[in-house]
Amino acid sequence: MMPTHQGSFRLFRFNGIDVHVHWSWFLVAVYSVSQRVPNYEAPVWALGEYLLLFAVVTLHEFGHALACRQVGGSADRIVLWPLGGVAYVAPPQRPGATLWSIAAGPLVNVVLLPVIIGAGWACRRAGLLDDNPDFARFLRALVWMDVSLLVFNLLPVYPLDGGQILRSLLWYPLGRARSLQVATVLGVIGGAGLVALAIWWASVWTGILAVFLLMQSWGSFRAAGELRRLEKLPRRPEFKCPECHVSPPRGEFWMCPSCRQPFDPFATSAVCPHCRAALDVTACPDCQTARPHRSW
Ligand SMILES: [Zn+2]
Ligand SMILES: [Zn+2]
Ligand SMILES: [Zn+2]
Repeated sequence: MMPTHQGSFRLFRFNGIDVHVHWSWFLVAVYSVSQRVPNYEAPVWALGEYLLLFAVVTLHEFGHALACRQVGGSADRIVLWPLGGVAYVAPPQRPGATLWSIAAGPLVNVVLLPVIIGAGWACRRAGLLDDNPDFARFLRALVWMDVSLLVFNLLPVYPLDGGQILRSLLWYPLGRARSLQVATVLGVIGGAGLVALAIWWASVWTGILAVFLLMQSWGSFRAAGELRRLEKLPRRPEFKCPECHVSPPRGEFWMCPSCRQPFDPFATSAVCPHCRAALDVTACPDCQTARPHRSW
């Protein structure tokens, strides 16, 4: 259920970051705009409101992507889909870098709030709202959307931004794997709470979102367990990952790209003992980056 590149097309590219829209976005857009139409005298404002909602979401995702790049991570894609936006970010595996990549998203909503209020105030001063109740409603809706996005994203329910911020903060005292375990347990509890709330409210949207969060949290909780096992493995202190500076584990955890057999490139100078193929790059089990074997 993770939103993917598939079924989406590129809307535009800015600063090397591709913004994609998933086809299902259009279906939900038609529904959501029709839901907003009764709020206005002229239906075009309902369309404007929905489009601006996604403009705010896109700016939020750009906050994540640009902050991730700033700290040396990679981020090249944003996908808009009906439940919101997803920025595909891979920050360096350090708590500070992860914290900034995540916090920059909600920070965009914080910065946008006085901008929207200021623009509304300027429009009121200029008399643009005087005989245009639709415009006034539209501005109120915009403030409401920005605040709701901020509050919702800051819920400490992994993988929402709030849950990921909590995880990055716990990373300092607890380490990479333990912090993820704690945050994802809270995510599963929070996700289950949202499912209960969705049933209480009889809200299909909340239900879909809650189940999605629950599945993501559960997946990350499992990944945290793997990470814990990885952390406990004996290491080779004579080598260090050029990216995260962590020593590789001792054991056959790499797969030969030619014969698909497991082997330990650090025991064989990156030559497969089964088929004698030489490995060009060795991937780091801790940070996932693949670097030339000599650079370790
Ligand atoms: Zn976010
Ligand atoms: Zn590494
Ligand atoms: Zn081989």
